[in-house]
Amino acid sequence: MSFADLDLDPRLERNLLQAGYRKPTTIQRAVLEAALEQQDILASAPTGTGKTAAFLLPALQHLLDFPRREPGHARVLVLTPTRELAQQVGEYAEKLLRGTGLSQGAIVGGRDYQLDADLLQGNLDLLVATPGRLMQYLEEEKFDPRTVEVLIIDEADRMLDMGFMPVVDRLAAEVRWRKQTMLFSATLEGQGLEAFVRTLLDEPVRCDA
Ligand code: AMP
Repeated sequence: MSFADLDLDPRLERNLLQAGYRKPTTIQRAVLEAALEQQDILASAPTGTGKTAAFLLPALQHLLDFPRREPGHARVLVLTPTRELAQQVGEYAEKLLRGTGLSQGAIVGGRDYQLDADLLQGNLDLLVATPGRLMQYLEEEKFDPRTVEVLIIDEADRMLDMGFMPVVDRLAAEVRWRKQTMLFSATLEGQGLEAFVRTLLDEPVRCDA
């Protein structure tokens, strides 16, 4: 399978080529077809396997397939365990969405609070955030969960280890109008994660790197 077989938007295909990606990696091959059909995804994929593009590409394709009529708040939400990862995913998304007219932003905490609040109130398609900080904005009604159509949880095993699951759980409950959820984790073993997966995902397609 090549990227050309997937019927991706030509701008996404061009950006992939510009990034030097000729062929999908194993996890991308496993995830992309089902994810592009809006199915929920449960993926075991450690860092280094190409997991970020595996969830960003279908999310960006969704935004392009269903363009909105007027500017608004985030339609794709990616939750990551750390600020560094949030920043990395945001930078990655920036590369992939070049020339599409879509926008992304990352809420990384540790920087000016008002700056991030302004970002949330502005025109944004894809938002990357750490759970704690986003919850703070939600409680202050500075983040509107109703516009989110695709929820992605990256490095779920680390979220669990860091004690973020109750917060992720609450955020996921607020983002209840979503059409698709994708969960990525280096490992899918562990009691806590299994219970979490059951409440969060709807008949997910299981994908392995
Ligand atoms: P990740 O697992 O998302 O952290 O990606 C690991 C590395 O693989 C990153 O440096 C990506 O830029 C790169 N990468 C992702 N997808 C591909 C691909 N299809 N072909 C070549 N490199 C890729």
